[in-house]
Amino acid sequence: MKFQILGTAAAEGWPALFCACDPCRRARAAGGKNIRSRASVLVNDNIKVDFNSDEFHHLSTLGLDYSQLEHLLFTHSHNDHFSTGELAYLRDPFAHNRKKNPLDIWCSADVANIIQSRYPDEAAAGMSVHAVKPFETIGLDGMPATPITAIHKHDELCLNWLFGPLDNCVLYASDTGFYQPPTWEFLKNVKLNMVVSECTLGFTGESETHMSVNSVRRMKDELVRLGSLKPSAQFVITHFSHNALLLHDEMQERVKDDGFVVAYDGIILEAGP
Ligand SMILES: [Zn+2]
Ligand SMILES: [Zn+2]
Ligand SMILES: [Zn+2]
Repeated sequence: MKFQILGTAAAEGWPALFCACDPCRRARAAGGKNIRSRASVLVNDNIKVDFNSDEFHHLSTLGLDYSQLEHLLFTHSHNDHFSTGELAYLRDPFAHNRKKNPLDIWCSADVANIIQSRYPDEAAAGMSVHAVKPFETIGLDGMPATPITAIHKHDELCLNWLFGPLDNCVLYASDTGFYQPPTWEFLKNVKLNMVVSECTLGFTGESETHMSVNSVRRMKDELVRLGSLKPSAQFVITHFSHNALLLHDEMQERVKDDGFVVAYDGIILEAGP
């Protein structure tokens, strides 16, 4: 499985749109891996997780072709993961010869309601919207995907996603805080070959609705305790706020003993089957 992280910032981007803080000034000056766009993932060229206002930037800078997308999955409706306006360009006359029409969209019932209220005629909009239930696996043209309950936005069911068969899969955990018992109960019976977790806060504090380096460490410990983490599993951290302070190489140095890989925009990870 090819797992490419297209955007690795928290909501405001890094450098943040209107910000002149020291980490933003340093990121502007250093460039490269320190320029972080909004959270977005591509699995095997045909499965996309989240769709935000940085997608044109992703496809043009990374040489991607979204006409090949067959499935679009959403985690939640925060603006940095979900831009309903961009979905207007799925249909004629904006898009021709897409690989799959309608595009299958998989999301919580909450997110489905938002999409369907903006695009009441799904066929005309070039999409087919499916509300999923946590812990129920769906099939994406041969790729199993399982939504699990995240802890993030109190007025909405937020999802993280597992890709691949449950005995050999990848966890994409963004956005979330430290999981609650029902999610751990489910993960007990899962074997992970890679975890990609948000780490919005870095070393700068704790939150119930976002992860820090400390909470990612706790998450890894719990997965080990449950027997859910394959010994060879990669652990990758992403979705950094400028308030996390540390530039890419500084963060990588601080977490090298944990074995964490610090993601950057465009990073391609190979995982699992
Ligand atoms: Zn986010
Ligand atoms: Zn800033
Ligand atoms: Zn969010």
